[in-house]
Amino acid sequence: MINSCFFYSLKGGITILALLDKLYERNDLSKEEIIHVLRNLDDGHKEALFHYAHRTRVKYYGHKVFMRGLIEFSNICRQDCLYCGIRVSNRKVDRYRLTPEEILDCCKEGYQLGYRTFVLQSGEDAWYSEEILIDIIRKIKEMFPNTAITLSIGERNDAVYQKLFEAGADRFLLRHETASKHLYEQLHPTMSFENRINCLLTLKRIGYQVGAGFMVGLPEQTAEDLAEDLLFLKKLQPDMIGIGPFIPHSETPLKDAEGGTVEDTLVMVAFARLLVPDCLLPATTAMGTLHPQGRELALKVGANVVMPNLSPKAVRTKYELYENKICTGDESTQCRHCIEMRIQSVGFQVDMGRGDSLRAIR
Ligand code: SAH
Repeated sequence: MINSCFFYSLKGGITILALLDKLYERNDLSKEEIIHVLRNLDDGHKEALFHYAHRTRVKYYGHKVFMRGLIEFSNICRQDCLYCGIRVSNRKVDRYRLTPEEILDCCKEGYQLGYRTFVLQSGEDAWYSEEILIDIIRKIKEMFPNTAITLSIGERNDAVYQKLFEAGADRFLLRHETASKHLYEQLHPTMSFENRINCLLTLKRIGYQVGAGFMVGLPEQTAEDLAEDLLFLKKLQPDMIGIGPFIPHSETPLKDAEGGTVEDTLVMVAFARLLVPDCLLPATTAMGTLHPQGRELALKVGANVVMPNLSPKAVRTKYELYENKICTGDESTQCRHCIEMRIQSVGFQVDMGRGDSLRAIR
């Protein structure tokens, strides 16, 4: 009995470790192999996976962590994503919009703190027309030399994406959210899976540095769905990959869902680093929300970007995608220094440069 158990675990262990070696050496695994690893990963295997992801990150990006200043400029959204706290159906949200001047003020403060990338994120808010956005982008580029602008404003048509790029936007974050069509459709009653994917392909074709990504722990999400997410990333070869745990919000239809865990998300972050080794991978705020050291843990398993908040203090609690979001009470200066201490505490160094992806530099 003891012998057969021993043999079984030994056999299983060797198989998973061999697959992890292959993943590390070739940056590739088949869907079946990924599913097999995800279903059989024990603590020892995880240690190996995390170690390989860390080594890969060091090989490509050294011990640097890039900083982005995040400006959440509007929580008004026309979409109705089941998981999201600022969905149009949530009547309890105190809605706000920053004026272009207020956005520029955030950039000014950020620039003085040393930031050279500004991430402008919002709900899908049509008040910010093509003209208004172009004006904001041009002014940021004029007023703050050598900065990169990342947009995260959801879906627009191809012509708008093109014009915003021409105005000077460098990067675009648009998580695919989930690569499983059936799951995507359940979660996004006002959106289409095909359109989401087409937007990502268009952004890439235009020349943006593109960010895709997904949530971990969505209701009914399986190992197979997660394998699809990872392989979608491998195929798209994005410059940036955002992965975070799903955190249920009490004013959404998914309020009673369980949500994702830090542990499962770390596994996905490590996999993403190994499958797309040259990508920029943020340690997300959602990770910091679930665990006091969530972002540090992500940095140790392949993440190499953090996005401290630059939004005005008065609106921070209102940009509530999920509850108990961290850093909503802090000033931008505090965030900047708190993050730097955290980065150094796990053996990395802050890099305040533009931090373009290796793919883009090549
Ligand atoms: N409107 C933009 C920005 C969306 S908000 C867009 O469509 O890209 C940024 C990200 O927050 C989303 O892409 C989603 O992955 C994440 N998010 C939203 N609600 C969340 C929740 N309840 N838990 C964890 N992440 C969430």
